[in-house]
Amino acid sequence: MAEFTMELNDEQKEVRDWLHGFAADVIRPAAAEWDEREETPWPVIQEAAKVGIYSLDFYAQQYFDPTGLGIPMAMEELFWGDAGIALSIVGTGLAAVGVLANGTEEQIGTWIPQMYGDVNDVKVAAFCSSEPDAGSDVASMRTRAVYDEAKDEWVLNGTKTWATNGGIAGVHVVVAVVDPGLGSKGHASFIVPPGTPGLSQGQKFKKHGIRASHTAEVVLEDVRVPGSCLLGGKEKLDERLARARERAAKGGERVKNAAMATFEASRPAVGAMAVGTARAAYEEALEYARTREQFGRPIIDNQGVAFQLADMRTQIDAARLLVWRASWMAVTGRKFENAEGSMSKLFASETAKKVTAQAIQILGGNGYTREYPVERMHRDAAIYTIFEGTSEIQRLVIARTLSGLPIR
Ligand SMILES: Cc1cc2nc3c(=O)[nH]c(=O)nc-3n(C[C@H](O)[C@H](O)[C@H](O)COP(=O)(O)OP(=O)(O)OC[C@H]3O[C@@H](n4cnc5c(N)ncnc54)[C@H](O)[C@@H]3O)c2cc1C
Repeated sequence: MAEFTMELNDEQKEVRDWLHGFAADVIRPAAAEWDEREETPWPVIQEAAKVGIYSLDFYAQQYFDPTGLGIPMAMEELFWGDAGIALSIVGTGLAAVGVLANGTEEQIGTWIPQMYGDVNDVKVAAFCSSEPDAGSDVASMRTRAVYDEAKDEWVLNGTKTWATNGGIAGVHVVVAVVDPGLGSKGHASFIVPPGTPGLSQGQKFKKHGIRASHTAEVVLEDVRVPGSCLLGGKEKLDERLARARERAAKGGERVKNAAMATFEASRPAVGAMAVGTARAAYEEALEYARTREQFGRPIIDNQGVAFQLADMRTQIDAARLLVWRASWMAVTGRKFENAEGSMSKLFASETAKKVTAQAIQILGGNGYTREYPVERMHRDAAIYTIFEGTSEIQRLVIARTLSGLPIR
């Protein structure tokens, strides 16, 4: 009989406690400094590499946890430590997943180790899809990849924006248009190897939160990459484009569903990051409410404060359950018939924004200062409702899935 449990097993608890220790001892104490510096925390990434948290092996191990809880558990703990630093540690994973999802075995073996570097010389990688005029509307992408058959090279031109680690990465994974007639189905992904001429960093953004994570434009001017840098290879691309043209003629429904399934499976990880930030702020608020006294008693003695904490904790637990359900569905190959992945990201990210704002309120004046971490957590939390699909896009996906209608 199939077993059902909502408890982590001993091995999972061990990994969770180990990650929590790293988050508490290494990440959290460094958070305020790197937030102020607005720079990539290389020494912390190196520490993570030393202990085995910064490598493909570690994330693959979590990903293949048959319960599906490995990745959400890891994200929650690291982001509990600090969102900006944690994104600097896990951001390379975005590019690695791009290669894992579309690359050949040879490409995976060649490029993923280079993305992480080694303990003595850590590297980061970037995944570049968004453009100034193509955010939520991915189909409006303009960066063009043209095949130069004589040289077996692809030539990339365009401007990417909002790229996490963009310009400071060794390996960049760039999504570009290979067939403008096919919308998002005419896109392909390319590896741009370290030091390739023509790729440069544009503006580095000064951000509201997650300031320890580098975000920048990436400019591509006649960037030439070998044919072997097309992820999946030319033959597979030609077959895929032929199928997409055929399906486009019939309405294009099946291809759209395949792309959606990928997002459904990846969004819970962002939900788990949001749960980590929300939990961190809640814990700060709970501790403060227990110890801060006004009118001769701890402020938690007031229902107005205690009930806020009760709601915060309830929403965090509900968010985690949605994230765990969606992650379990992804790993066990369940179909996301109700857009459960998007639901988890929507609820967890909105919860993080709300809970971190309540935490500031509970800490009063102190909550509003940089002496306490909740104002940083609140600034950080705002990203979760924006990247990997905004809350509005999550609602659109959920509404379309539930109704079966092309709601606009
Ligand atoms: C810090 C940070 C890191 C990022 N990292 C990466 C990265 O590594 N790689 C990468 O490729 N991208 C990255 N992104 C980009 C991110 O995914 C986009 O910002 C996001 O998809 C939204 O696109 P946009 O900013 O262009 O907003 P827009 O799409 O212009 O949206 C603006 C507003 O309009 C709303 N809106 C748009 N369309 C609709 C609609 N149909 N219905 C209702 N409302 C709508 C949106 O919800 C939003 O509120 C990052 C962004 C940030 C801020």
